Amino acid sequence: MKVAKFGGTSMASAGQFQKVYEIIQADPERKIIVVSAPGKRYKEDTKVTDLLIALATQYLEHREAETELQQVVNRYREIADELQLDGLIIERITADLRDLLKLDTSNPDRFLDAVKAAGEDNSAKLFAAFLQSKGLDAHYVNPKEAGLLVSDEPGNAQVLPESYENLHALRERKGLIVFPGFFGFSPDGVLVTFSRGGSDITGSILAAAVKAELYENFTDVDSVYSVNPNLVSNPKEIKEITYREMRELSYAGFSVFHEDALLPAFSAGIPVCVKNTNNPDAPGTMIVSERHSAAETVIGIASDDGFCSIYMSKYLMNREIGFGRKVFQILEEEGISYEHTPSGIDNISVIIRDTNFDVEKEKRIEARIKNELKVDDIAIERNLALVMIVGEGMRRSIGVSARATAALAKANVNIEMINQGSSEVSMMFGVKAHDADFAVVSLYNEFFGNK
Ligand code: ASP
Repeated sequence: MKVAKFGGTSMASAGQFQKVYEIIQADPERKIIVVSAPGKRYKEDTKVTDLLIALATQYLEHREAETELQQVVNRYREIADELQLDGLIIERITADLRDLLKLDTSNPDRFLDAVKAAGEDNSAKLFAAFLQSKGLDAHYVNPKEAGLLVSDEPGNAQVLPESYENLHALRERKGLIVFPGFFGFSPDGVLVTFSRGGSDITGSILAAAVKAELYENFTDVDSVYSVNPNLVSNPKEIKEITYREMRELSYAGFSVFHEDALLPAFSAGIPVCVKNTNNPDAPGTMIVSERHSAAETVIGIASDDGFCSIYMSKYLMNREIGFGRKVFQILEEEGISYEHTPSGIDNISVIIRDTNFDVEKEKRIEARIKNELKVDDIAIERNLALVMIVGEGMRRSIGVSARATAALAKANVNIEMINQGSSEVSMMFGVKAHDADFAVVSLYNEFFGNK
């Protein structure tokens, strides 16, 4: 049995619905279909999820929201009309949306989640109806009824362990299951969404729960590329990549597959295949535990910005028992999770995400570190990017960092920080955000030979 997830662009129009139908028909093992909300049909288009966010925001701000509601309905209507589906379905979608707007708005995050989730929910209902119109035994399945339980964190749900047992029962259902991505329910029955792009997570959870032989993630590119294709033309395609490598690349900005979607598949040992709805014959990228092509030292290069560093130095820091704990305690008390902590003998830097760290927090933390830790020096630097070179093969090769630093020097990029995790799957360079793209291109040229 395979779980196949289709992303927003795969569900964006009637033509795309038809392609997805053909993909499902081509392999009877594709039994559980997870769908996103209709996404962009062309570059300037707006995703249904974003239309729904606009609708909810209008409503929360007590403004007339009829135009926004009609924009959402029209996206579904266009698809239904072109596929000649019963008009009743659009009436139902409209009525459901109007009912949603009657929900309690006293907790805006909850309200927003309920409205956002309507994108995938209606997409699944519409797609199931389309498959039925084609004579298939297909059924929409609601995450609540199926037992997809998640933590009660609006916009950032985490799956609860009991979901796996509940969802395992889907194996026994007859026919095709069409399951909406992106949301589950808290144990109290409240709808909660994953973070943006979270339909990938739903697919991964289902694949792990039913012990699928494969989790196929259909999107709009032929494969995962070794570098951002907006920076390098015709970059090398990745045929096979390990979960660990993919995790590192997703962390640093590879957005083809949601970072949080790896864990369920990885824990259950389910291989993931990223494929293209618009070119389903292309083999795609396999994400696996061990790759056969281990010869490749570096598999990908990525970068992400929005980081800042807190640098602290204090003479004899290395001998001061408890210094590190006190730093982390301050961060914990301020509700900040840290990303990396490169350190020297008498200094340590803590790298955190900008989004975690507003100006008020910055001032408070700076004062606390000065007063409580009595450091000699503290400097906070914003606008940093992390550039990462990723590859399991680095563990066995000599000279990767020498090549990397030479490539950065060639691009005239100053390195603010170097960090090689002890797993040696990745090497990380902190650079000024405005240097990041130059750094990535130069590293790509060095390791992939496109000189
Ligand atoms: N529709 C949601 C989003 O745009 C989830 C997804 O597509 O995976 O974030």
